Amino acid sequence: MKKICLSVLLSTLLFHLTACEVHWFDQSYEVPWYVIAIPVALFSVIMFYIGGKIISKKTYVCPVCRHQFHPSFWVSMVSLHVNSDRYFKCPRCGQKNFCKIARDGERDDL
Ligand SMILES: [Zn+2]
Repeated sequence: MKKICLSVLLSTLLFHLTACEVHWFDQSYEVPWYVIAIPVALFSVIMFYIGGKIISKKTYVCPVCRHQFHPSFWVSMVSLHVNSDRYFKCPRCGQKNFCKIARDGERDDL
């Protein structure tokens, strides 16, 4: 629920902050919000999708029980991270921690 509220708030801010006026060779143009916001939103969605695909291919290790797991696409797409460590809930022990990538942690298949 927090993520949905935060997403709505950020989207509203994005739409309100993107309208602007452009000066081009002594002429002034009013740029509507959607000319800026829609490409930014599309770019963000594409980057989240690509990031989720790449991250869900990797194997992560739970620091508590050493269980190795592959995060789901959706969880990978929205997970917090510090460097390559990602914040996941371990499927075995249920602990939420920053998990490291396993040394041989990449799957070949998608
Ligand atoms: Zn665990």
